[in-house]
Amino acid sequence: MPKIVLLIFVLYLLGYPGTGQNIPGKYALAIHGGAGVMSRERMSEDMQKRYIDKLDKALRIGDSVLKTGGTSREAVVSVITYLEDCPLFNAGKGAVLTSEGRTELDASIMDGETRNAGAIAGVTDIKNPIQAALKVMEESEHVMLSGDGASEFARSKGLTMVKNSYFKTRERLDSFQNLKKREKEQARIDKHGTVGCVALDSDGNICAGTSTGGMMNKKFGRIGDSPIIGAGTWADNQTCAVSCTGHGEYFIRLTVARDIAAHMEYKNQILRDAGNAVLEKLTLAGGTGGFIAIDKSGNIIMPFNTSGMFRGYVKSDGEKEIAIFREE
Ligand code: ASP
Repeated sequence: MPKIVLLIFVLYLLGYPGTGQNIPGKYALAIHGGAGVMSRERMSEDMQKRYIDKLDKALRIGDSVLKTGGTSREAVVSVITYLEDCPLFNAGKGAVLTSEGRTELDASIMDGETRNAGAIAGVTDIKNPIQAALKVMEESEHVMLSGDGASEFARSKGLTMVKNSYFKTRERLDSFQNLKKREKEQARIDKHGTVGCVALDSDGNICAGTSTGGMMNKKFGRIGDSPIIGAGTWADNQTCAVSCTGHGEYFIRLTVARDIAAHMEYKNQILRDAGNAVLEKLTLAGGTGGFIAIDKSGNIIMPFNTSGMFRGYVKSDGEKEIAIFREE
């Protein structure tokens, strides 16, 4: 065998960059906190700082899990749990209200190594929906549970249960009441803030998770893309891990998360090209939003077609970025 071929083969086995393999010990993680209409003029500096602080803390949590040898699955659940507990985002505490004035939460997780997945939809009393999704994945023979059944399952697994009032914040009640005064504006993306995380761990495994309160003023038990595997969340070590945010009905119809992976799998595209192609399809269809995605080499993309998306990433070499608006 010529020496050069042998060298490339050895580099491939070692996971040299550009060969599409993971480098042992290398990790990376990206987060989003929702996409939507955002502008510097409409968001006070103080509010921008509050979001940036929380995104930064979330990245530090994920970084420390991965740095100490934790799995991508552990990193995703720790980060999303933190964001669910933070009232600024539309997930867990601080989630938007339905037309009946309560919160109904959706969440999902997918593990890229095994392609196992878990999801819960329309739950009203599980403090951290992402933890329930994890339990569905790890400790049930199902992929998605909903409503009272999901709550019963979560309770039986010892998860923290809360009254629905726990999720309601002053800000959400105020914007709900304002919206009710203008009832003609029905379910729409009034409030961004769905949260998501994708991670690559030092063993080369990727994972994705998403958690949301859905769309403000939603009716009739509406469920969006976030708990739907293939629409709002996808992970597969062979391609990528994806978490979406935006107008869920479009993400469901276009199976956005899985479509990015399919572009890589069937068209042999790299992550960036696959992401651009799928974002373009979303835009052409009239859908608004964005997504974060990571591949097994730690490449990260965070595209969106709205004016802003809360987002950030961190890598094992110390590279880090946090941004809100398009022009950053
Ligand atoms: N995708 C979520 C949903 O449609 C909402 C969002 O991400 O803002 O339920």
